Amino acid sequence: MRLVLLGPPGAGKGTQASAIVSKYSIPHISTGDIFRANIKNGTELGKQVEAYMKKGLLVPDELVVSIVKDRLTKEDCKEGFLLDGFPRTVNQAEALDKELKDMNLKLDRVINIEVGKEILIERAIGRRICKNCGATYHVKFSPPKVENTCDKCGGELYQRDDDKAETVEKRIEVYQEQTKPLIDYYKEKDLLLNIDGTKSIEEIFYDIVASLEGDF
Ligand SMILES: [Zn+2]
Repeated sequence: MRLVLLGPPGAGKGTQASAIVSKYSIPHISTGDIFRANIKNGTELGKQVEAYMKKGLLVPDELVVSIVKDRLTKEDCKEGFLLDGFPRTVNQAEALDKELKDMNLKLDRVINIEVGKEILIERAIGRRICKNCGATYHVKFSPPKVENTCDKCGGELYQRDDDKAETVEKRIEVYQEQTKPLIDYYKEKDLLLNIDGTKSIEEIFYDIVASLEGDF
């Protein structure tokens, strides 16, 4: 099954992606993960990517397309894959179609997790992370027992720069502006599955599987 997973930052895509790839035994290809690994290892690619991310901007097409192209030719992609974080623009989607066509393949479905902007902002700005062990909390939805203190290790909690209101809002706006044409593109190709991302994690996954299996 060749799938693309779309959804704004903070829509819970990562959780759904893990569940989908485990159910269908396909690799999870996350451009975000590839980028983060490069940033962590201080590679040239990582440095380029980091400069864009810090400004809340998206990484340019040429850079992303070349990484994905390389990844899709790997052996583990033979039976399918789940692309997450790519494509983000119509330009990238066309590059992907071309790439797959050259391999005599095509996409089966594009899963679009929908969550409104206000909800996304509320989810993000309340997020707190433990400086010590990396555990995550939310001041409203899953607060620690003692304010600003990790339940697991007693470490101090902090808010990532990425989760500050201004950055979050900008990131969502950039996402929406850029993905609206992409969503239209896949809708026209009759590949789009819209999924209500305001439900619980389990319900969202159930909806995704039910939609996919209604197809196959
Ligand atoms: Zn901790």
